Amino acid sequence: GISRFSTAVALEEQPIVPLVQVNHTQLLINGQFVEAASGKTFPTLDPRTGEVIAHVAEGDVEDIDRAVAAARKAFDEGPWPRMSAYERSRIMYRFADLLEKHSDELAALEVWDNGKTYEQAAKAELPMVARLFRYYAGWPDKIHGLTAPADGPHHVQILHEPIGVAGQIIPWNFPLLMFAWKVGPALACGNTIVLKTAEQTPLSALYAAKLFHEAGLPDGVLNVVSGFGPTAGAALASHMEVDKLAFTGSTDTGKIVLGLASKSNLKPVTLELGGKSPFIICEDADIDEAVEVAHFALFFNQGQCCCAGSRTYVHERVYDEFVAKAKERARRRVVGDPFKQGVEQGPQIDSEQYEKILKYIKHGIEAGANLEIGGERFGQKGFYIQPTVFSDVQDDMVIAKEEIFGPVQSILKFKDYNEVIKRANSTRYGLAAGVFTKNIDTANTMMRALKAGTVWINCFDVFDAAIPFGGYKMSGQGREKDNKSLAVFSTYKLLVYV
Ligand code: NAD
Repeated sequence: GISRFSTAVALEEQPIVPLVQVNHTQLLINGQFVEAASGKTFPTLDPRTGEVIAHVAEGDVEDIDRAVAAARKAFDEGPWPRMSAYERSRIMYRFADLLEKHSDELAALEVWDNGKTYEQAAKAELPMVARLFRYYAGWPDKIHGLTAPADGPHHVQILHEPIGVAGQIIPWNFPLLMFAWKVGPALACGNTIVLKTAEQTPLSALYAAKLFHEAGLPDGVLNVVSGFGPTAGAALASHMEVDKLAFTGSTDTGKIVLGLASKSNLKPVTLELGGKSPFIICEDADIDEAVEVAHFALFFNQGQCCCAGSRTYVHERVYDEFVAKAKERARRRVVGDPFKQGVEQGPQIDSEQYEKILKYIKHGIEAGANLEIGGERFGQKGFYIQPTVFSDVQDDMVIAKEEIFGPVQSILKFKDYNEVIKRANSTRYGLAAGVFTKNIDTANTMMRALKAGTVWINCFDVFDAAIPFGGYKMSGQGREKDNKSLAVFSTYKLLVYV
């Protein structure tokens, strides 16, 4: 495959050795690193080679029970929900400082376990994680209730309270960012937590949680259990002592955990799920910029983004130019060892995703889409896939309907705006959408008509701790980040007196 990517970096003969050691592979329960009750471990792999990085404790039902008991006790009897809001803030600020101090090691761990580029992890993600914790560190002393109007002599107050023990389940594509989105708001409100990491990427959350304890977090407030979905994940979702469940992952798993929550104690559930986001390029767009942003919108993080712009709709008048330039941009995409400077694309997360993506590519070819470039594995080892571009994709093809979660751009042609809005909306998902146009009327019409939680105009993937995020339709329930997340992790009590 390398010859077709003449300007791309070839894979190193020997992968670069990360400047970090794996020190934490046990479950973090009640402030202590402990083995799984069963004594079992599972391997976590380096996606560059498929080799084992470390063996990690495999949490299961009994470990979830232990972790929930610790979180329950820390909530019902411990200092965290009882300390002053200012003190909670200070611990969270101290943690953000520690994150920054150790950001090189955390970034290296993230790259090793996940395959994302070091540049992305160190320069974009770690700063976002620290920013998120500082944002939420600012909230504890600003959460306050209201008085409600009441007729007659009654005085009515609305008192905000933490919801209790929060169960949190996260995916592998942004391990530390997803840790931050979940843990930041839950702690700001005074909750305690049991977090289950994704089985592909257990390492960075264990390290981060350890740093949180160094920052002064009391024992039992943040428990981290590594393990698999149907065992540890299901036990958490169905636990009677868990008061709230926050889940990020696929739509199919979202349905399962929602069912488990409703069959157990009816805990409220927020869901951040999959997507098949449209990216619409209008005829008046700056084509070179649109090509670049559409490329980024799809290929960022090896295409493993919930909001990836995975249906690129291009107006027929600029279609040929766009396809030629999108192909050229993909040809120039630098694939290689993600630790190496200048590399834009590392390996996919694991062999399962790698096989799944190659199967989708085959589907695309068989369905008659035009393979412009790529389509095969890259290099000889690890889970690398060539940057792939399909043109002439039709709405009813599998590659235009299902989440590929890989470096595969699908380009579709459209004629008029009403038609493209309808086509863009004809999906079970509604996470995000992108529009490229210079016409403010078109932008206005599109952003109102597109059924998606976020619509980016002339940009894509713009995130901030203070900007909420979440999906319409089967892309989720509820919103995360911003103060929307505070509502998710708290409840309120009405105090009525006369
Ligand atoms: P996944 O649903 O397979 O796994 C997500 C998490 O759920 C993992 O921790 C897994 O162990 C756990 N899990 C699996 N089966 C379970 C079960 N039966 N009970 C309880 N927990 C279970 O998803 P994934 O492949 O890890 O992640 C990719 C998906 O996540 C994509 O669909 C992507 O769009 C979505 N995602 C969404 C967002 C968002 O904010 N909307 C962000 C990132 C990823």
